[in-house]
Amino acid sequence: MKTLQNLIGGVWQDARGAGFHDVVNPATEEAVARCPSGSPEDVRLAVDAAVAAQPAWAALPVADRVARLTRWADTVAAHAGELAEAECREMGKPVALGTAFIGGAAQAFKAAVAEALDYPFEETIAGPDGGSTTIVRNPLGATAVIVPWNFPVPMTLGALGPLLAAGNTVVLKPSERSPLSAVRLLELMDLPPGVVNLVLGDSRAGAPLTADERIGLVHFTGSVEAGRKVGAQSGGLLHRSILELGGKDPVIVDAGVDPAATAAAVAFGAFANTGQICTSMERIYVHQDVAEPFVAALVEAAGAYPAGDVLGPLVDRRQRDVVVRHVTDAVERGATVRAGGVVPEGPGFYYPATVLTGVDESMLVMTEETFGPVAPVAVVSSFEEGLERAGASRYGLAATVYTTDPAHAAAARRIPAGVVWVNQWQGGGPERLYEPAGDSGMGATGARAAYDAATRPTSIHLAPLA
Ligand code: NAD
Repeated sequence: MKTLQNLIGGVWQDARGAGFHDVVNPATEEAVARCPSGSPEDVRLAVDAAVAAQPAWAALPVADRVARLTRWADTVAAHAGELAEAECREMGKPVALGTAFIGGAAQAFKAAVAEALDYPFEETIAGPDGGSTTIVRNPLGATAVIVPWNFPVPMTLGALGPLLAAGNTVVLKPSERSPLSAVRLLELMDLPPGVVNLVLGDSRAGAPLTADERIGLVHFTGSVEAGRKVGAQSGGLLHRSILELGGKDPVIVDAGVDPAATAAAVAFGAFANTGQICTSMERIYVHQDVAEPFVAALVEAAGAYPAGDVLGPLVDRRQRDVVVRHVTDAVERGATVRAGGVVPEGPGFYYPATVLTGVDESMLVMTEETFGPVAPVAVVSSFEEGLERAGASRYGLAATVYTTDPAHAAAARRIPAGVVWVNQWQGGGPERLYEPAGDSGMGATGARAAYDAATRPTSIHLAPLA
């Protein structure tokens, strides 16, 4: 079985730490690779390499950096199927779904790095007395990107684009559960040595990386629990962190919508990637006027997500145990299972597309992130009640509203969340700008905010020369 290596300063090399773990295919429960679990020594060397490579990378003209990054994105797009197969082996995502998301992520990466061409890295504003102020936005230096396992390649590309285009270098730490696609992604890269370094491992690599005082920014995507630790560490160093964390996203289904079409859209929002999307629909508030046909259609739609190529396994046994615990808790507190809800015979960490009714906020499935293919449906007596319950969560990542009423569409913005979709889910282009609310994270990103985060402005005030 292959033992994975780190990429430090452009050289693939064995990990120095003693610890290793198996990467397990969640569809078969078989080990597919041996992965280093992380060591401070490897992290230190990777940061050394990122620090050493940064001045020359930043000194390149922006257009050169953008051109090189764009070439990498084209290579990634050409290898999307191969990368998706690696994701499938390490975390179970069906290859067709993975290929589509990686193709989309490569395009989004190109759009994000192209933003650098218009970004005001330097601008001069004339003063009233003949003087001027020049604002220079310099890269931060060496930065860290820490990503989860649920969309390994897209999450990595999403974080890397603006950081690199702005002239920073990066130490990348993928999830210990999904290192295969990260290794392949960097094998496909043709950038100067040290511009992107790869350190494999779990928190044994992540914690020393965020503790290194040479790291100017940590872009962290993952759980609330780990995000708090990363944020505290960066805050202690007075360094920046962007924290994109978990969610418990609500969807409101208003009176007057087409129940069957909306149910099909909600089924996709709840079951795609086996519910393991940070913005999966995890709480469904349906207006009483459409509740009955909507639930019937949702139960039928769940049947269109058979285990296998459509509904992959959960990432591991631990994640499936969370899903089982949430469904069991809901049933014990009075919920009804309308579809799914039973762990199938092995092998593989599969769990069926599940619809629950009779749920309320006394249940884990309506309050804590489930991260599984579970659609819990609560009936509300008015759109206003749906809005209130949607907003009453400690999370605030995204929210979705289906309505035919323009006033209700306008009211959707009252839900505290980084992104609000109306009559669509996952829409939006490179112009999207957001900051998660509540426990779902902090730090605005997307669009220009990603470049603002990746740079530090200095103002040079010039008095008229005598
Ligand atoms: P996780 O927090 O367990 O791990 C995420 C990454 O952080 C991994 O690489 C892990 O090794 C690393 N890590 C763990 N502890 C660390 C520490 N103390 N210091 C530094 N690094 C540490 O999360 P996960 O289970 O891999 O991913 C699932 C979570 O990610 C869910 O909560 C999901 O909602 C969230 N997520 C959020 C977004 C978003 O954009 N907001 C996107 C995808 C996933």
